[in-house]
Amino acid sequence: MSRYWSAFVHNLEPYVPGEQPKLANLVKLNTNENPYGPSPKVLEAIQQENCDRLRLYPDPASHELKQAIADYYKVNTANVFVGNGSDEVLGHIFHALFQHAPPLLFPDITYSFYPVYCQLYKIDYQTLPLTADFQINVDDYLRDNGGIIFPNPNAPTGCLLALNEIERLVKNNPDSVVVIDEAYIDFGGETAIPLTQRYPNLLVTQTLSKSRSLAGMRVGFAVGHPDLIEALVRVKDSFNSYPLDRLAEAAGVAAIKDRAYFRQTCDKVIESRNKVVTGLRELGFEVLPSAANFVFARHLDYDAAELAAGLRKEGVIVRHFTKRRIEQFLRITIGTPSENQHLLSVLDTLI
Ligand SMILES: *Cc1c(COP(=O)(O)O)cnc(C)c1O
Repeated sequence: MSRYWSAFVHNLEPYVPGEQPKLANLVKLNTNENPYGPSPKVLEAIQQENCDRLRLYPDPASHELKQAIADYYKVNTANVFVGNGSDEVLGHIFHALFQHAPPLLFPDITYSFYPVYCQLYKIDYQTLPLTADFQINVDDYLRDNGGIIFPNPNAPTGCLLALNEIERLVKNNPDSVVVIDEAYIDFGGETAIPLTQRYPNLLVTQTLSKSRSLAGMRVGFAVGHPDLIEALVRVKDSFNSYPLDRLAEAAGVAAIKDRAYFRQTCDKVIESRNKVVTGLRELGFEVLPSAANFVFARHLDYDAAELAAGLRKEGVIVRHFTKRRIEQFLRITIGTPSENQHLLSVLDTLI
């Protein structure tokens, strides 16, 4: 607290990210990072960046990266916006597209950054409860609104909404923007990006942090109608016109282009997820159906906070949210096969 702060800052409640502990030898299953490193081609691209050029500003429009994303998804570069992680892209979206009179709609259980952006950009919002089995019911969203946003698969549940349901929502909500946050789509869903070519009110965001193993680089993007993209560019160019540094852009391009490595690592994570789900169920956990690189699970006989503390004592960190409806769940990131095995054997001793 300081008397130099604005009244607005006094009241700001920032987002609290998952812990990044400094201890070595932890099994870190708390922030949905990829257990595998980025593609070797990414490391090569970073090494080949001419370091003499670091004295020069990067391309303010990140053309090469936009081109790589556009080629990958068969859209035009005018459909693509890039930023420092999808969190920054989302910040610009809230600022540029959600400041309308009726409230923004999102689920009661979802990515906890959304209410933080609403506070920062003074956006009125209303949360709509997930169903009893933690699913999004599209009919709930077919009402007056200033925008709609949710992740697909949802976080922290991991549950996927079918693409035809997303299309039904977008089609029946022509007067405001629907944003689908696809941070985890590559681990088991089908992207809504092709729908952006038919619906000018749909914007899809993705990140290279999870499925492309670049959380430390900060690269994210949005795909949608050029008018939506132009709104984001206006905000970006009023705030930080050089968002991606040279190394991040080079790494991002190489990551998008190495399709084989991407497919291989995603498949390994999916295979491991299936094993973790089976293992947890054998221990008596209820596990929500996950299409992400994490699972959301609860045990009817054991308190989630106590399980998280017990795991931590053995060097395994998972995420526990003290939020109504989900306070008995643990969100567990899928790690390497040996990390997953360690998780399951520690849980076995706790149960
Ligand atoms: C991880 C995550 C993001 C943000 O990822 P960045 O690292 O900022 O690209 C956005 N939305 C959801 C739902 C996430 O889980």
